[in-house]
Amino acid sequence: MPRLQVVTIDGPAGAGKSTVARRVAEGLGFRFLDTGAMYRGVTLVADEAGIAPTDEAGLEAMLAGLELDFDSRGRLVVAGRDRSEAIRGREVTARVSAYAASPAVRAAMGRLQRQIGEKGALVCEGRDMGTDVFPDAAVRIYLDASAEVRMERRALELENKGEVVDRDRLLEEIRARDAADSSRAVAPLRRIPEQTYVDSSALDRDQVIDRLLAIAREGLAIEA
Ligand code: C5P
Repeated sequence: MPRLQVVTIDGPAGAGKSTVARRVAEGLGFRFLDTGAMYRGVTLVADEAGIAPTDEAGLEAMLAGLELDFDSRGRLVVAGRDRSEAIRGREVTARVSAYAASPAVRAAMGRLQRQIGEKGALVCEGRDMGTDVFPDAAVRIYLDASAEVRMERRALELENKGEVVDRDRLLEEIRARDAADSSRAVAPLRRIPEQTYVDSSALDRDQVIDRLLAIAREGLAIEA
């Protein structure tokens, strides 16, 4: 299989994939695709339309007319509206795993991601990028961190926004999303030997970016 000029970064919620992947894309001069944002966009639309995550026919009809895109600044645009803030809400976060388990939703998002990736020069992050959507990517990375470390990072982020954080509850939410994403029947989050494994628990953000850039450059055979 010819390899695509694509770098995939998969891993659990809160491992810092989004920021890190964005910076890796910048460093390589590649485009960036946040596939979690796509699943969040679908969740928002389905929820607003009152379509249950198990209603495959309803979801298929909705997906057939769905206009989902990113603007030049990487903000998610759904049906012409910037929804990049709305998709980060607690409600969407709590419900997205259920919609992401739908075969209809995964097929539609997978097709869209593949179309974007086939043009090459892409860094994408998610749960199944290297395992299912881009098994032919030149570089596949699994970015991990312990649930406690991920919880603490998220807690600090929320506290910086002035929110009061219940750490036990946050840890529970993170564990619930891990379990849902890893146990679903279609394209679950999983590690495979072909991925380069990076545990970021003891690293700061810049160290993670440096590691990932080095791995990506080596895999893409680009001189650093
Ligand atoms: O990465 P983020 O937290 O934004 O992802 C939101 C949710 O979208 C995940 O919890 C997961 O259920 C789903 N997702 C997925 N496959 C991807 C990316 C995200 O199932 N490639």
